[in-house]
Parts: sequence; C-alpha cells; structure tokens
Amino acid sequence: MNALTTHNLEEMRQYVLGRFAALFESQTRTHLFGANISELVRAIHGEALDGLQATFGKMDELGISAQAKNVLVSQLEQAIAPFKELDRTLDLLLEERRRQWRENERNLLRIMLEFGQISGELAGTLVEKDLLERQSHVLENIILSHEKVTQWKAFIQEILTSFHVIFPFDFFFISFAQDNNLSLYIYYLNNYSEEIKSDARMKLSRDMISSLGLPPGAPLDIEEFQVMENDRYESIGDVNLITVSVPALEVVNLAGLLGVAYGSAQQLTVQEESVIRSILAVMVMVVGSSKALSQTLSELEYYSTHDPLTGLHNRRYFNDMLEYEVGRSERHKHEFAILMLDLDNFKDVNDTYGHPCGDAALKLVAEKLLDVMRKGDLATRIGGDEFAILLTETGRSGALAVAEKLRMELREIQFECTDGKVFHITTSIGLITFPEDAKNVSDLMTGVDIGLYRAKEMGKDGIATLESATDHIRIGRNTRDHAEKLRLALKENRVVPYFQPIFDCKTGEIWAYETLARLKEVNGETLSAGMFIETIEKYGLGRELDRAILKHALAVLKERMEQASGPHRLFINLSAQEIQGRGILGFAEQLCQEMCIPPSAIVFEILERDAIGDMTNMRKFLTNLREKGFSFALDDFGSGYNSFHYLRELSFDFVKIDGAFVRNILDSKIDRILVRNLCNMCQELGIKTIAEFVESQEVLEELRSMGIDFVQGFHLGMPLPRMA
Ligand code: C2E
Ligand code: CA
Ligand code: CA
Repeated sequence: MNALTTHNLEEMRQYVLGRFAALFESQTRTHLFGANISELVRAIHGEALDGLQATFGKMDELGISAQAKNVLVSQLEQAIAPFKELDRTLDLLLEERRRQWRENERNLLRIMLEFGQISGELAGTLVEKDLLERQSHVLENIILSHEKVTQWKAFIQEILTSFHVIFPFDFFFISFAQDNNLSLYIYYLNNYSEEIKSDARMKLSRDMISSLGLPPGAPLDIEEFQVMENDRYESIGDVNLITVSVPALEVVNLAGLLGVAYGSAQQLTVQEESVIRSILAVMVMVVGSSKALSQTLSELEYYSTHDPLTGLHNRRYFNDMLEYEVGRSERHKHEFAILMLDLDNFKDVNDTYGHPCGDAALKLVAEKLLDVMRKGDLATRIGGDEFAILLTETGRSGALAVAEKLRMELREIQFECTDGKVFHITTSIGLITFPEDAKNVSDLMTGVDIGLYRAKEMGKDGIATLESATDHIRIGRNTRDHAEKLRLALKENRVVPYFQPIFDCKTGEIWAYETLARLKEVNGETLSAGMFIETIEKYGLGRELDRAILKHALAVLKERMEQASGPHRLFINLSAQEIQGRGILGFAEQLCQEMCIPPSAIVFEILERDAIGDMTNMRKFLTNLREKGFSFALDDFGSGYNSFHYLRELSFDFVKIDGAFVRNILDSKIDRILVRNLCNMCQELGIKTIAEFVESQEVLEELRSMGIDFVQGFHLGMPLPRMA
C-alpha cells in the first residue's frame, strides 16, 4: 500500500463521493421507476374499468335481460377483483419501498456526512504530519558538532536548503550587533536581480539597525550567500519578514536577530507560520551558540594544550607527545631523551620580589628554552617552576650537551624587577634516555624524576642521569611493586570509599556525596586515590577497584538510608576498563536490588578522556545505564575542547567542571571565562553543572554568581570515611 498523502487522500475522497452520488442516482431512479410502474398499472386498471363501465351502460340499450346482466356483473366483478387486489398489493409494496428508500437515504446521508468529516480530519492531520515530517527532517540536520560550530556560516546553508522545501521563502538573514557594529548575513534562495538584492540589503539593514537598537549610522558589514541556483527573479513585490531574536549572549556581548523574508505574493497558513517559527527558534540556538562558541572555542582549543603564562605547551600536551614519541621511536629504532628542569628555590623569588616578578621570570625562562632548542624538540611547562623537554632523536651525550647549555644560559640571565632590583636563578635538571634507561612512558617519567631528585640532592644547579644499576631497578620495581601492593590491599579489603559532600548551590545544603577510593596501608597510613589510580589503570585493576568501592559504598548508603534522612545520592567514579567491559552495570543493578537501593540514587562519573575513546561503545554503555535507571556525569569536563562534541552526542545528566579551572577562577581571567562559558552552555543544553575544587569562600561566591548548580571542594567538606 502506498503511504497516505494529502494528494491521494483527496483522490480517494473524490472517488468515494462519486460512488455515493451514483448510489443516490440509482436509488432515485428505482424510486421513480417504481412510481411510474404503479401509475402505469393503475392507468391500465382504470382504463379497463372505464371500458367495462361503458359496456354496462350499453347493456340496457342492447336489451339484455336483468338476469343475464346480473350474471355478467358478478362475473365481471370477479374478473375485476384481482385488479383491485393487485392495486392494493402495489400500494403496500410501494409504501414499504418508500419507507426503505427514506431510510436508505437517511443512512446514506449520514455516511456521507461522516465520511466528509473523517476525510476532512484526516486531511488536517495529514497536512500536519506532512509539515511535521518535513520540519523534523530540517531539525535532524541540525546536529551541532565541533566542525559545524567553526563553520557555522556554511552549516546554515545546509539547513536552509531543506528548510526551503517546506516553505519557499526568498531570503534568510542573520544579523548580529556587537560593539555597536551590525553584521548582516543574507542568504538568497533564488537568483534575484541586482535590484532586488540591493532593496533587500537596504530594507534589512534599516530594519535590523532599528530592531537591535543601534544608532542610525552604525558601521555595517554585509556578507551575502547564494544558497540555491533557481530561475532568475526580477521582482518579488513587497517583502514580509518573520523574525526571532537570538537570546542575548552576555559573555560575548552579542545581540542578534534572524529570520526569513518572503514576497507579498505568498500567503501563509497559521500552521505554516508556526512551523516556520519553530524551525527559526532552533536555528537561533544553533546560530547563537555557534557564534559564541566559535569565539571561545579557538581560545579553548589553544589553552587545552598551552600554558597561558608562557605560551609553552602544557603537561597534558607533553604526556600526549611523550606517548607518541615512544611509539614512533620504537618503530623507527630511534633514541630520544627527556630533560626535567626545576628552578632552584623559585619560591623565594615569588616571596621576595612578588608574583608578577616571578611570572615575568618564568616567561623569560620559557623564551630561553625555545632559543636553545632545535626545531622538532618540545619544551613544555608542566608545573609552577617545572619544565619538561623532549629531545627527539637524541642520545645520552647529545642530551647532556643540551642540558649543560641550558643550565649555563639560564644562570646567565639577569632578571630585573619593576623596582630595578636584579636577581639570578639556577636550575636542577634530571635526564633520561629512551630506550637505554627506560622503555615505556611511566618508567621514563619515574626515572627522570629520580634524576631530578638526585640533582637536587647533589646540591642543585646540576644535571643528573640514572647512573647506577640500583636506579634502574628502582624504576622497574617502582610501579610493579606498587601494583602488587594494591592487588593485595584489594584482596584484603583495605581499599575503602571516602565520601566528599556535594552541596546544592542554591540551598547551601548537602545534596549528594562523591565516593573516593582510599588505601589503608598496613602501617595505618591512608593513601589517596591520586597516589595509586594510575597504577591501578595501568595494571588492569580498575575493575576490581570499582567493584570493591561500589559494594562498600552501597553498604554504607544502605545503612544510612535506614538510620538518617537524606540526601541518599552517591556519585561513583568508574574506570576506563569498566566502560569497555560493561559488566559493572549488571553488578551494580544486582547490588541495588539486593540492598533495595533505587538505581536513581547512583550517578556514575566518567572521565572525559575515557568517554572520548570509543564513541559507539560509550553510547551503548550509557543507553544501557539509563535503561537501568542510573544517571551519569562527565568528570573533568573542559580539559579538552572535544568535550563539546561529546556533550552534545552523549547527553549527560551532570557535568563536573575540571577542578583545575575552578580553583583559579579568581586569579585567571581565562579560567573564569572558560568556567562561565561551560556553565552557560550546559544550562542551554539542560545539563546540571558541578564545580569541584572549591577551595575558598570567594571562589564559591563567584561560582554562585555564574549559576553553577552544585559544588564540592576542600573548603566545603573533606573526603571522610563516613557520610558526614
Ligand atoms: P576526581 O574524580 O576528579 O576526584 C577529585 C579529586 O580531587 C580527589 O582526589 C579529591 O580528594 C580531590 N579534591 C576534592 N576536593 C578538592 C579541592 O578542593 N582541592 C583539591 N586540590 N583537590 C580536591 P583523589 O581522591 O586522590 O582522587 C583522584 C582521582 O582518582 C579522582 O579524580 C578519580 O578520577 C580517581 N578515583 C578516585 N576514586 C576512584 C574510584 O573509586 N574508582 C575509580 N575508577 N577512580 C577513582
Ligand atoms: Ca570524580
Ligand atoms: Ca574531577
């Protein structure tokens, strides 16, 4: 069967009405036919009776005897009787038929009316369905991804093509007012004459200047796009506009309007206009966010891999490149070296001459590093006064030479404070080589730290490499030993959850807890997750850790539910391994069932970098998780610009903004803008935000003013063995 469309519905309606008309016609015909027959029969009877009566009249003239006449009359009457009978029967029959006809007519009329009504309603819904289908087709195309954000102008053109199918408007426009300038983007959907275009430009810029409240002579910047090549139009008559305004984006100080324009010849139904408005409303969101995002995105992209102070790459980038370099050097049998620099007693510089002076010194150090290094090498700032350098295709002797040169050049720099005071610095350097000293990322990093530590120990201002065999054994054992220790601790139930409260920003009350793993050492010390989580992941112990924590944490929650009132909500960290394996959900579901804890009380936290790994799996995992009633949060959000993409694709319930940004919002303008933007964006997408690492009241106030939903941090509550 073909799909029902407005077109074939109308065809069908015509057909059925045709059949109804035919029915009425044949009904009327039979009716008339019956009446005619009955009249005919009566006429014939009448004539026959008249003939007989005339014959009776003549009997007397003919001299027929009374007796014979009586016989004749009675015989005639007998002969006439069936005629009368027939007439009566006919009358009865006709009467019955008339009743039937009347009834049929009523039924037919009713059916016709009902049919008309139904087909009218059907046509209505079909129009709606049609419109809605086309509308949803347009909306489907509007998926915001990173590329689309940066190329929003081209992206708009794509949407317009499908939008135009629904409603053949003449042009589409977007206007933005920023710093008293008007930017106007006009998209033509047909080939118009220069005259029409120039009229459009004039009308739109005039209208937009007044609608956006700009001064009449505001500077104007018009960009025009030809979306489709259709017939050439010489005139479109008066122009009508449908506009919607872009919500003010305070962050980038932007106001805007967008809309469609169409010639006066076109008439719009109410339905059409409302569909157009709803599409425009979505486009407003796309355009508004795209415009705002494309401005901050390039910044974000830059600062996700760079250190804002010196402009060098940051730790994150260093780690990525190191991993890459290990792989590359393995394949090509190259060697390479890492230098780890730490400025000696730099804290004194800050304390004595002040932070601005310290910052200026760090910038100069960065410049010097770049001066000395070859192209292809990588200098990064990985901490306050720590710099890591990757020397590609460099062996031990080459690396030693570079390190020595750096040490000397840095010693030479004369730093000057604004008040004219001068000072000098020295540097300690650890050095390690691949593959001679170590063959994987974590051994390289442990080794270079040992080197740096040794350089400091030897009196600073020096360079140290891994010299002795014991150093090498220390690296190798370091993590492996650690992993064994962890394995044992897991087995002996010495890894336990601590609970850090998460507060509702509006009410100031505790709203949930995040569980954080702690290791109880045999000597009674407690080790934070930060000290062992890397080893856990590296040696594939993530699954065991998560299960141990989940089991323990749910038991604590259960106890609390029985003894104290709310909040009964737990945020639980998941390791990358669990997301791949997905067994955790079944495990968690079963635990919840056994303990009578509703899954809605559990929010799983997934690290941004883990979420990014495998989209398809991730999506499946999350769908599964939702079905079971759990929620989830994206942890450390903002540490990569890719986050936007995933935010959109994976629709999280909560987003935890990376504490590394949060803690700095008062000192760093960039971090403040970043956090505010992330917060705004999540709000627009309807995702709740949590800020972690709230370390002071001032930071809390600032976050509150940004509209963050929830907060946690040392200022508000430390992780404790109980839900305090
Ligand atoms: P995370 O999920 O980002 O957790 C926040 C970390 O910051 C915790 O460190 C917490 O103690 C610390 N923290 C909380 N408030 C503040 C603050 O105001 N300032 C500062 N500077 N830090 C604060 P922790 O417990 O050492 O955990 C480190 C990471 O280990 C966690 O980062 C999480 O990714 C992971 N982790 C912790 N517990 C588990 C677990 O049970 N399973 C898994 N898979 N990972 C876990
Ligand atoms: Ca977390
Ligand atoms: Ca975090």
